[in-house]
Amino acid sequence: MVKIGLEIHLQPNSKSKLFCACSTEGAEPNTKVCPTCLGMPGSKPRLNTDAFIAAIKLALAMNCKIQKISFFARKTYFYPDLPKNFQITQYDQPFATEGLLELKDRKIPITRIHIEEDPASLKHVEGKKGTEYVLIDYNRSGTPLCEIVTPPVFSSPAEAREFLEELMRLADYIGIFDAQEGKIRADVNVSVEGHPRVEVKNITSFRDVERAAQFEIIRQESIVARGERGVTETRSFDQRTGTTDSMRHKETEEEYGYIPEPDLPPLIITDEQLEKVRLEMPEPPRKRIARFVKEYKIKQEQAESLMSERALADQFEEVVRKNDASLAAMWYSYVQKILNFNAVRFDRTGFKAEHMNDFLGMLSSGVVSKRGAELLLRELLLHPAPARQLAEKLGLLALGEKETEEIVEKVIKENPQAVSDVKRGKEKAMQFLVGQVIRASQGRAKEQAVLALLKNALKQ
Ligand code: ZN
Ligand code: MN
Repeated sequence: MVKIGLEIHLQPNSKSKLFCACSTEGAEPNTKVCPTCLGMPGSKPRLNTDAFIAAIKLALAMNCKIQKISFFARKTYFYPDLPKNFQITQYDQPFATEGLLELKDRKIPITRIHIEEDPASLKHVEGKKGTEYVLIDYNRSGTPLCEIVTPPVFSSPAEAREFLEELMRLADYIGIFDAQEGKIRADVNVSVEGHPRVEVKNITSFRDVERAAQFEIIRQESIVARGERGVTETRSFDQRTGTTDSMRHKETEEEYGYIPEPDLPPLIITDEQLEKVRLEMPEPPRKRIARFVKEYKIKQEQAESLMSERALADQFEEVVRKNDASLAAMWYSYVQKILNFNAVRFDRTGFKAEHMNDFLGMLSSGVVSKRGAELLLRELLLHPAPARQLAEKLGLLALGEKETEEIVEKVIKENPQAVSDVKRGKEKAMQFLVGQVIRASQGRAKEQAVLALLKNALKQ
């Protein structure tokens, strides 16, 4: 039996750091700093409430119990990334406990969520081993983090990855995180039967979480198979080799010497504040997926894909007020493909409901052919403009009858062999001719019209 648990650090959208007014935006190293985030003697932390509200939203989205009073604590350790020699975090009284995150076919319990400050970042210029110095960038020092802890409930690396993807999607959906630019780091705890728990620290991609867990399972199983005793320890993951390496024996909680943080008051959220945050929360994505399937009779996968971004789901609902839902869902799936291919977010495109309404209108009135439609939608999405003008500019408007007729005549003249095949009753030759006409029209001729014209022309 394999047991996997996760501790995830997610950086919520926030303009400033958790305990000072310094910006969280990237910049030249060590320029976004002040006495507080540099840990100077005499400096005092002050809580950035926006970051706390973001954390509450995340906790509510995972159905956590919100503690009306919680406390900050100092976690002591000595390392150059931590100028104060302690990190301000929450310990035995976090602000959120006992939550749930719904995956497709399983509910994953959440032990707790707390907020804390990120340490500075270290840059090992000559690699981690054997170097004489390390560069430190304090811009990251004090950046807000939400730490989400699960019990060891995942039974496979793939499931742990699915959880991370769902968590990121949810955080993005409720507007506290940007799935494309935002940062997540995970520690993954792994133990196979007969081997004590091992923690692999600071993994920065979902794929690597899966790889690290896969490697650990094999490593621990082979230790158990040899009849050796495994040790509880902290390991690091090497991206290049896909392997883990011993860092140090795991600190016990006593070694961290947690003490209450004396410079910050208790973290309090009132019923009124909580109610206000609750009202700002959108319909939960899992519920909304189920409602889309039921109410609009679209496929489950289509509803799932619409939920990848809240703006996408919102626009879909706006568009189906005027259009057929299954047709709209089909074209929004195509929108998703284009977004993925170009690695752009929907909410950055400027593509509006009117664009989709006009597009679907043009499609159903046959102003644009199906092949032209795909091209048109791609252009509309990446460079939004009035749909009709754009179609005209790109030469995508469907051909009129007269123009189509001209092309049909030309194709008949140029393909005597196919024409005589058709006359001898060969179906394939007819398809070939239709294809030739559509090609000659650069996709602008409508298939039905072409077929009718060809039949007419050849049967006389
Ligand atoms: Zn600062
Ligand atoms: Mn932490």
